[in-house]
Amino acid sequence: MDAIKRERPLKDKDLNGLKTIRNKVSRLWSLVVGLKVTGKCFLSPQITVHYPRRTVENLSTFHGPIELVPTPKDPMKPKCIACLQCVSACPSSCLAVVPKPAPKPTPEELQAQKEAEARGEKVKKAAPKEPGKFTYDFTLCSLCGTCVETCPVDSLRFSNDAYLASTDKKDFFYDLLGRLADQARAGGTGS
Ligand code: SF4
Ligand code: SF4
Repeated sequence: MDAIKRERPLKDKDLNGLKTIRNKVSRLWSLVVGLKVTGKCFLSPQITVHYPRRTVENLSTFHGPIELVPTPKDPMKPKCIACLQCVSACPSSCLAVVPKPAPKPTPEELQAQKEAEARGEKVKKAAPKEPGKFTYDFTLCSLCGTCVETCPVDSLRFSNDAYLASTDKKDFFYDLLGRLADQARAGGTGS
């Protein structure tokens, strides 16, 4: 019958039009979501500073290049016992530790040693328990913290050195014992 109107099937042209509208709405929504984040940050208090005119006051949670921790009694002496565990654990081979050689025995000690050996006693040589050399190549370090976690005597920690800049790579190759001595002379603990 002519009076009955049949629904027209959607043609390709109509479908494409619907797709375009849907895409435009989706993009507009993304823009609204993005602007919501921007607006929130715009209104929140500023947490960055205009370096170098200003510097950050509290760097207690900053992880800078690692450094040695001194013993409570002597700020020139590290807690390190030269066990080399940090050297083995470091995935980037940034650390090198050379244990301090045992001090040469005095003539009296040598004599006592000889006498003990003559009696068939075992003479124990004192094992060095501190580093003679401790170097650290910061250019290789990923600041993963494995060395800090591995150290059995908590002799390593992250420093607060945030403002490091140089055009010479050598400036980031540290002698950690020398650095500890400098910090002790300056009267600080470095952190
Ligand atoms: S922080 Fe990681 S990469 Fe850096 S010296 Fe320690 S173990 Fe090696
Ligand atoms: S820093 Fe710690 S882990 Fe590394 S050699 Fe010294 S005592 Fe051992």
